[in-house]
Amino acid sequence: MNWDVIVIGGGGAGLAAAASAAESGASVLLLESELELGGSTQLSAGMFTAAGTSVQAALGVDDSPERFFQHYMDLNQWMLKPGLVRAFCEQAGPTLEWLLGLGVEIPAVVSHNAHMPGLCQAGVEDVWRGHVPKDQGLGLVQVLARACRTGGVEIVLGTRVDRLLHEDGRVVGAVADDVEVRAGAVVVASGGFARDPELLDRYYPSAGRAGDALFVVAAPGSRGDHLRFGEQVGAAVTGHEWGLMLPTAYFQRLHHWQSGFPPRSRVYVNGHGRRFMDEDASYAVSGGIIEAQDGPVWAIFDERARRGLPPGYAHWTPEHVLAEAEADRTARAATLPELAETIGVPADALVATVERWNAQLPHGRDADFLRHRTLAAKGADGPLDPIGEPPFYAVRTLPAELVCTHAGLEINASAQVLDVRGDVVPGLYAAGEAGAGVLGPRYVGGGNAVANALTMGRIAGLDAARTAGASAAAASA
Ligand SMILES: Cc1cc2nc3c(=O)[nH]c(=O)nc-3n(C[C@H](O)[C@H](O)[C@H](O)COP(=O)(O)OP(=O)(O)OC[C@H]3O[C@@H](n4cnc5c(N)ncnc54)[C@H](O)[C@@H]3O)c2cc1C
Repeated sequence: MNWDVIVIGGGGAGLAAAASAAESGASVLLLESELELGGSTQLSAGMFTAAGTSVQAALGVDDSPERFFQHYMDLNQWMLKPGLVRAFCEQAGPTLEWLLGLGVEIPAVVSHNAHMPGLCQAGVEDVWRGHVPKDQGLGLVQVLARACRTGGVEIVLGTRVDRLLHEDGRVVGAVADDVEVRAGAVVVASGGFARDPELLDRYYPSAGRAGDALFVVAAPGSRGDHLRFGEQVGAAVTGHEWGLMLPTAYFQRLHHWQSGFPPRSRVYVNGHGRRFMDEDASYAVSGGIIEAQDGPVWAIFDERARRGLPPGYAHWTPEHVLAEAEADRTARAATLPELAETIGVPADALVATVERWNAQLPHGRDADFLRHRTLAAKGADGPLDPIGEPPFYAVRTLPAELVCTHAGLEINASAQVLDVRGDVVPGLYAAGEAGAGVLGPRYVGGGNAVANALTMGRIAGLDAARTAGASAAAASA
């Protein structure tokens, strides 16, 4: 054996696996295909969902892994394996404490969004579980990379693993650039497949429903190599058709923190010209609600809202919306009935929808969809403006920003990869987007994927170090 543990991929899952295996005394080689560490984790806000943490306790939030587990399973309609999800919910808190011990900073203050360090509402949970670190995903990566260096992990950049070494039914290493490296255990942490159109067609075909509006924000290394490794060793794949697509305007092409945000004073209407949701609902549920509507969904707002858009973003600015309207890609009309005709919804319904909105939220309450509660959680102050100043606009809104994919190698509660019969593939672990079964049909809110990557990465690293130690002992006996 050259190494106790080889880790494939240096994003959140890989760094957590490598640092924890090294902490357990294993010799670790980490291979990263790109010229820098970080993957999608580095691009993320770093929000981390966990229950029963010291940050929650300092804010007086009474929570437990059991409560987290119940919410997680209910939101995912119990379509996930309870044993695996239970392990994740139990270990997310300790993993967060481990990160705090390594130097990650999460102040015990109330946060109103994924870019404000502290504790915020992650999704639709009853107690807040979204832990936002200082310095976001980049900060997490830097802290974990430092822990790897301190632990003596050998990190090799610019080296894409081509295949696994599989001998006598056991994974014994990996091959990169025609060089074989051997180890007692291998952790696949190579991220998702959002950047590979063929794999998207195969494992997440519904992403194609976004058509020309589809855009991918996942890191360039998200090429789906885990699925190719899995084929090599007969691994089971789970999570077909699951992933995170954020609702966006058809004209957005960048993650929302760069593209910008639609006007606060807007309503979403469906093909019947009716409002159907809290427009600020978490993406834990908003994509699914939008997809369930009859006909296209439109964001309706007025001239005052367009003018009030803040500058400094790539797409949601007064000038960009105007340019889209002048190019006839965004619908614009002098009256609501004319706007309704342009977008093909019943005029009387659209007029009634806007009248009802004007009678509600501009006065502080949304009796139909309780949007005032979401706005309060986001720290919004003051009532919203009514929709009344012509011209009026309608912007097609749909889930089209592909953030991460959930189909990957099926794992058990120790992050060991399972084969198609459900047996462990000896010597092989997977975590993060590569290791599937924790990220389900419903994303439980901001922080679900980073928590999955780091928690299951840490579990994989600890168990891989133990397995490697056992095989080394057996080999020398
Ligand atoms: C813009 C953005 C914002 C996000 N915000 C959040 C958030 O705030 N909270 C949250 O929970 N989730 C968020 N997510 C999702 C989350 O960041 C990811 O799902 C998670 O970080 C994935 O971690 P990972 O370790 O599985 O993959 P990655 O972090 O992508 O790491 C995989 C690594 O493996 C490397 N690799 C790939 N193939 C090979 C190979 N063959 N050999 C060697 N190396 C290889 C890649 O280059 C990459 O560095 C966000 C994602 C994006 C893109």
